[in-house]
Amino acid sequence: MVGRTLIDVAIIGGGPGGLGTAIALSQLPFVRITLYEKNPEPREAGAGISLSANAWKVLDLLGASEEVKGGSKSNTHQRNAFTGDVLGVVKSPENAQADSRGAIRARRTRLQSALLSRVPEGTIQYGKKLIHLENLPTRGVRLVFHDQTEAVADLVVGADGIQSIVRRTLLPDHHLSFTGTIAWRVIVAKACLAHIPDITTSTSWWWGESGHVYFSDVDDEDEKNPYFEITVRGYREPEILGRTVVWGVPATNDRVASRVEKYDRRIKDAVSIVPEGAWREFAMFAGPRLDRIIGWDNKVALIGDSSHPLSGAFGSGATFAMEDGWILARALDYSQSLGLSIRDALEIFNNIRSPYYARMYEHLDELEEKMRKSRQESKDFDDFLRAKIKYLIYGDKDFIYKNDIQKVWEDYIVSAEGQPR
Ligand SMILES: Cc1cc2nc3c(=O)[nH]c(=O)nc-3n(C[C@H](O)[C@H](O)[C@H](O)COP(=O)(O)OP(=O)(O)OC[C@H]3O[C@@H](n4cnc5c(N)ncnc54)[C@H](O)[C@@H]3O)c2cc1C
Repeated sequence: MVGRTLIDVAIIGGGPGGLGTAIALSQLPFVRITLYEKNPEPREAGAGISLSANAWKVLDLLGASEEVKGGSKSNTHQRNAFTGDVLGVVKSPENAQADSRGAIRARRTRLQSALLSRVPEGTIQYGKKLIHLENLPTRGVRLVFHDQTEAVADLVVGADGIQSIVRRTLLPDHHLSFTGTIAWRVIVAKACLAHIPDITTSTSWWWGESGHVYFSDVDDEDEKNPYFEITVRGYREPEILGRTVVWGVPATNDRVASRVEKYDRRIKDAVSIVPEGAWREFAMFAGPRLDRIIGWDNKVALIGDSSHPLSGAFGSGATFAMEDGWILARALDYSQSLGLSIRDALEIFNNIRSPYYARMYEHLDELEEKMRKSRQESKDFDDFLRAKIKYLIYGDKDFIYKNDIQKVWEDYIVSAEGQPR
């Protein structure tokens, strides 16, 4: 056993990725962590979040799964948003069977609290917006915050989300652009919607021409006052010029109502009960893929949305971010145990995670091609929707929803050493 060097790690961002990384790294005795979060206190702007077997696996490893409760996603209805016609029903998603806890939709704040409860006290500094970082020629990386304080770390983990300053500094030629998609999200008391037929009885997707609406439980049956999620998406939205970050900002009821005015009466009724000021708007940005998610002589690692702005594709980005953090911790632990450097650890992290993300992008490319073809070949809108639903629901996505991150690590060790560890 080689003596272990103490490493100072700065994690930028306290979303699922940053918190998951902090938990995983806090289990390593040779790591000293500080997590810097720009918000003045814990904040989570989204509504619900889907969690499948891949999420349960990493949450178990982080010791954070018990507190995460949510509504079951079985019995999902797929509908035409204009007519309300049911085009398909998925009794139980295939991925739900990979774990007895099934596939659920939970309040985002529940996931956040569960993760926060596992982060050692004193790790997180709030109100610390990173505004500058610099690769020091001697040791580490210098960090400068908005409040004019500074820090130096041996390793920086960029977990600062889609508009990541860490990525922008590391890769100044990498630019994001608006995808044309905007999501408006809210959770409301389920009781307020109960009088509208077919809205709260199951999870449902109502597909339109240039957008869709999603309804889902976010609480389990034991919750006394359960909440319910409504998400409205527009696919061909004009860019909001002059505002580069439209993420979790309030949107008016009129703005959201205008996106559903041609839809089925039940959707309009559901949207109309939302109190003014409750909707939050999320404009989706995307950028070219990254071949490497590490840099600056391997002193910086990008994780989660900061490494791969997937814009919510697969509905599993929080899990990807937590998996990244867990693998990073394994790579550091393994490298240190062999007397290797942070550089080596980050190569291992990159070699495991970059090909995984590449596979996701390949899947998205194939999906786009299939959609393009079925748009041309379908005889009518319902026919196209059926094809779309088939590709979205049944395409082979086991590599995502059934991903067992512990097995991924064990397989890596076997390939590196020829034996399990
Ligand atoms: C509409 C939509 C639906 C989605 N649905 C799902 C779903 O069902 N399931 C799922 O798993 N994923 C879903 N996702 C994706 C998921 O939200 C993200 O992939 C996930 O939040 C990424 O986690 P993260 O920690 O990388 O980044 P984030 O959650 O974005 O966290 C980044 C953190 O960094 C902080 N930060 C930013 N800049 C700075 C700075 N300069 N200094 C300090 N702190 C900073 C932010 O305040 C924030 O706390 C969805 C996304 C969208 C848009």
